Amino acid sequence: MSKRYLTDQQKTRIAKQQSKHSDIDEQTKTGLVVARYGKHIDIEDIEQKLHRCYLRQNLGQVAVGDNVLWKPAENNASVVVAIEPRRTSLVRYNKFEGDKLIAANVDQLIIVVAPEPIRSINILDRYLMLAELQHITPIIIFNKIDLLDEATQPVFQNILNYYKTLNYLIINSSTTTHEGLNFLADRLIGKNSIVVGLSGVGKSALVKYFLPEHNIQVGDLSEKSGEGSHTTTRANLYHLPMGGNIIDCPGIRELSFGDLTPQQVVQGFKELRKFAADCQFRDCSHTHEPGCAVLKAIEAGSIDPNRLASFRSIIEQKD
Ligand code: GDP
Ligand code: ZN
Repeated sequence: MSKRYLTDQQKTRIAKQQSKHSDIDEQTKTGLVVARYGKHIDIEDIEQKLHRCYLRQNLGQVAVGDNVLWKPAENNASVVVAIEPRRTSLVRYNKFEGDKLIAANVDQLIIVVAPEPIRSINILDRYLMLAELQHITPIIIFNKIDLLDEATQPVFQNILNYYKTLNYLIINSSTTTHEGLNFLADRLIGKNSIVVGLSGVGKSALVKYFLPEHNIQVGDLSEKSGEGSHTTTRANLYHLPMGGNIIDCPGIRELSFGDLTPQQVVQGFKELRKFAADCQFRDCSHTHEPGCAVLKAIEAGSIDPNRLASFRSIIEQKD
């Protein structure tokens, strides 16, 4: 993305923010973090050349998608000296150690669900909540539509239609028939997207379709080399041929929201949060309280009860 080419003015601003005694000089270059390992990162420079870099201790968290300033050095000793302010930060919540940055500057959360495994649809609300709380635009991909027949098609459409009423974009797709994939490709142009969803929904098949040269393995999780040979990589950013980037990040696959309060969780549910503003108690958990506007809305049929069930399962930390 053109965003990674900083102007001199931007460099100066970042330098002022992050470095009291100037680390920034004419040696300093701009770069984009494209891979994150334990102790080092890979940075791509303006010519798309890769450089292994170490991180200064005082930098704070650095993730794939970050635009950085770095200083080249021999023998893989290049070092990152500053991080450009982020548009968005995708984090995993952790009350004790602090939130963990998974990826930076993510524009779109591509949430993949499928008729098989069906549990993927049960956890859709969790990913939507993550997108809402972190101000990242979600796109719902209903994949494997080639598996639907006359009996099952209306059942799934009925479930997903509710999400359309919430103004979420839903794309029906199949990596087998390629239906919907051109439409999705258009939405990926010029954006940083991250593909999430339960194992087996077809994430790797989708990414492989858009990045055929990247040798991405499709199939049973236990058989995937991704779980074995790449375990040292925390995340990667790949350029799409049509412009835009896909971030692949195993860390986002385990989601835990146990550390969030009900008041935070409710902000991740578009229609619940609208009604929650009118609850009698400010710390209403929307489970039993008198004067609960959410429960009233459920009774009136304005909210899908499944959404309240999802909300409750998150605050009760059930699966
Ligand atoms: P991931 O775990 O989410 O990355 O899922 P994979 O991409 O590995 O796909 C899991 C299984 O579903 C594989 O056997 C794929 O061949 C299959 N699959 C993926 N997309 C589709 C699809 O659109 N239709 C059908 N019928 N199978 C698919
Ligand atoms: Zn309430």
